Amino acid sequence: MSVTGASVRDAALPLVRRVGPVWGEHWDLANADDDAVVWREPDDLRHRHARGLEAWTAAVSQRLDGPATPVEPGGVLHLAPGVRMWPVPTPTLPPATHTNVFLVGHARAFLVEPAAMGDDVQGIVAWVDGLRAGGLRLEGLLLTHHHADHIGGAAQLREILGAPLCAHPATAERLAPGLRVDVMVHDDDVLPLDHEGRLRLRAVHTPGHAPGHLCFLEESSGVLLAGDMVAGTGTILVEPIDGDMAAYLHSLRRLALLDVTAIAPAHGGVLRPARETFERYVAHRMAREARVVAALCGMAGDASVSDLVPVAYADSPSSVWPLAALSVEAHLVKLRSDGRVHHDRGRWRVAST
Ligand SMILES: [Zn+2]
Repeated sequence: MSVTGASVRDAALPLVRRVGPVWGEHWDLANADDDAVVWREPDDLRHRHARGLEAWTAAVSQRLDGPATPVEPGGVLHLAPGVRMWPVPTPTLPPATHTNVFLVGHARAFLVEPAAMGDDVQGIVAWVDGLRAGGLRLEGLLLTHHHADHIGGAAQLREILGAPLCAHPATAERLAPGLRVDVMVHDDDVLPLDHEGRLRLRAVHTPGHAPGHLCFLEESSGVLLAGDMVAGTGTILVEPIDGDMAAYLHSLRRLALLDVTAIAPAHGGVLRPARETFERYVAHRMAREARVVAALCGMAGDASVSDLVPVAYADSPSSVWPLAALSVEAHLVKLRSDGRVHHDRGRWRVAST
């Protein structure tokens, strides 16, 4: 059902209450690409997101003023002209339940986060095919990083859609043997999205959560597809195997310096203001690091990670302590690099000054 903006607002208000494009002033209903947008009734939205209403409400709850959000069949959110988001259920880290799949571009487009699994793969295929019928050319599938909740549909979508898989080399080397990356993407690479150059997607290498982690900045709108650097739902795990706490903090500080108007993370809704969000994440990690150091200082002699977790995470329920242990270890590895702690056979102690 295609309707006008005014009636859309009325129809959608009961569910999406004054939500809309992240920055309504940039929204252009005359945009040719968006002429075919179908506005959904609230009941349709509820039906489509019966399994994922939490993700849907999370996605829209942080939106600000402006007209109601236009969505295509399937319940796709338009974050900005040419930037579409579709949350799909994935086996991700609770409390998050979904990963956001993005399609960025008009005439030429990239699909970011091919995370769909099961029936949702066909849903994504139908979505892309519908846009292709309208003239869109899919240039590739972009991976932010190699974690399972981000690549669940990569092999199938690559084959069915016939689009190359694109990722950072450090992601490519961590994928299962059957999943081959066709195009390597490096820091500062610009992926042209249409022949008029209106939209530009710039890759930003942001290691820390994962070695090959890439964010993608759509420069005309300032939307940053942030992968697992920050989260709209839940938290970001930085653990000592794939993760690197020092690199993560460095990447967050770098993102805070970019011209970002809104952050679209892989899990949950849009975050803004951007700079304050990144700075808050840095401050949170530094506060946790201080708690780890204080816990270690409070131990006589040395301590194991499992000794430290109940003290450093006394403010969190014990149910999260197994994951917190990984984070504590990542902090300790950073502190060792900083020369502030020593490590010997699983025991940690504060470095003498
Ligand atoms: Zn991840």
